[in-house]
Amino acid sequence: MTTAFDKDLELIFQKLTSDRQVKQALDFLKQDAPNTIAQQKELVVIEAPTFQEKQRSLHYAQMLKAAGLQDVTIDEKFNVCGKIYGSGKTGKSVLLEGHLDTVFSFGTVTDVIEKDGKLYAPGICDDTRALAANLSVIRALVNSGLRPHHDIMIAGTAAEEGLGAMSGMKYLVNNKAEEILAAISIDGPSNDVMYFNATGMINYDVTYTGPGGHAYLAFGTPSAVQAMGRAIAALSDMQVPETPKTTFTVSLANGGQAIHGIAQSANFKINMRSDSAEVLAQMEQQALAIFQQGADAENARWQKPGAVKVTFSKIMDVPAGSQSESCRMVQAAKLATLACGITPQPRLGGCTNSNMPIAIGIPAVTLGRGGAEYGTHTVDEWFDPAGVYVCEQKSLLLLLALAGLTDVTAAPQL
Ligand SMILES: [Zn+2]
Repeated sequence: MTTAFDKDLELIFQKLTSDRQVKQALDFLKQDAPNTIAQQKELVVIEAPTFQEKQRSLHYAQMLKAAGLQDVTIDEKFNVCGKIYGSGKTGKSVLLEGHLDTVFSFGTVTDVIEKDGKLYAPGICDDTRALAANLSVIRALVNSGLRPHHDIMIAGTAAEEGLGAMSGMKYLVNNKAEEILAAISIDGPSNDVMYFNATGMINYDVTYTGPGGHAYLAFGTPSAVQAMGRAIAALSDMQVPETPKTTFTVSLANGGQAIHGIAQSANFKINMRSDSAEVLAQMEQQALAIFQQGADAENARWQKPGAVKVTFSKIMDVPAGSQSESCRMVQAAKLATLACGITPQPRLGGCTNSNMPIAIGIPAVTLGRGGAEYGTHTVDEWFDPAGVYVCEQKSLLLLLALAGLTDVTAAPQL
């Protein structure tokens, strides 16, 4: 861990943690933990598969209002968002969010089972826990009478998981890019984990089609499967750097219609990732050329130009970003974690909602949602809430540090 901190940032956290009102708010978060856990259980049974978050979004909007958030609105993606207005009337905000959607389809979550102090329910951690945690942060801010300088924006975002590709967060931050100074996402396990990189990810769906024919009678006709095979072999040989970490894999390949038929169609998917936007773009260009070369090489082998054709579509595009571990946003997140008595564990890489602000130049971190957890993205998921309120305490300190606390600390330049 990088341990060098800018002096002014250290001073902000010293002032915050010795402020009487802030201490009261931190105590409040600990006392409020049972309410937070009750709301986590209430939310998890309102199922929210990716792209089908409407019911949970409507319900969460009511909870946000009840907690004291103002001007709560739901946008066309079903992101729900509201404000705690700062004293400075600056029109600028620090965003705290968790995602509404889960990886489970409707009918998976019927109940929360409690056993040995653990809560069992698919989605109980990821990311329902964050939604509940952020409600408690609102209550702490409102009840304590703490007055941030800039506004605090709290959101539940849609479409983070899978093919959602963080599109809810993308929509939210792109629409409010002028307003958001910094963004904190609550996602991932435990109280110490943090993500500050934005690993970019691009997926393609690639299809080869050709005339096909009988394996014996039409021998000499280019094959869609063979074209695909040539492309896959060349893709497999792509060289990528170790740093910035860059990866690819081809999967879900299938094709042909019969063992004794020259394939008329073939399809595969490729997943490409990099911590660098530039390297990812280079790899994408290389892959696109190879998709075409697969068809060309197969047609050339049989001297039938144009027989097999390739089409492809980009099915996911998550932008990569570059934010260094020594930047002030990451320093502030580490100081907030240390102030809660936890040693931060920064993770390299990361494809989280923070990708979206980072990609457009807004400083962002993703912080773990606290507690112990097991089996996220499986039906065996459980959550152990022991000591979980530290997540909320960390969020509160970081929000106050970044937004500034009236008469106590000024908002730092990031
Ligand atoms: Zn998540």
